[in-house]
Amino acid sequence: MSDTCVFCKIISKEVKATIVYRDEQVTAFRDTHPVAPTHILLVPNKHIDSVGALDAEDEQLIGHIFTVARRLAEEEGIANGGYRMITNTGSEAGQTVFHLHVHLIGGQRMRYPMG
Ligand code: 5GP
Ligand code: ZN
Repeated sequence: MSDTCVFCKIISKEVKATIVYRDEQVTAFRDTHPVAPTHILLVPNKHIDSVGALDAEDEQLIGHIFTVARRLAEEEGIANGGYRMITNTGSEAGQTVFHLHVHLIGGQRMRYPMG
């Protein structure tokens, strides 16, 4: 837990969010500035700054985030149409909140190419 991290505060319920899923390892909540009809952020409950701070011991956790994302995509009704998952790492990639998170985005045709 970081005292200054807004996602840690969402996990601890100090800051309000529309939480759609939580378990011992992961919390998922709706982005306040959605870019598509479904825009959910999945975060590990423990504070990790970014992919750049991952350890080998986090591999199960990251895999778990992906299987939760797959389940949420089904619940949101976007699994058949398709969806995109994005993890920005570092400021040049557009990371603005330095608590590792996966964007789950869908419900419309995605623009491409990226970058
Ligand atoms: P990043 O730019 O770091 O990849 O993504 C951060 C995301 O967090 C942005 O899409 C932004 O809208 C979202 N966000 C920032 N602060 C909050 C907040 O307090 N609550 C929620 N639900 N989303 C937030
Ligand atoms: Zn945090």
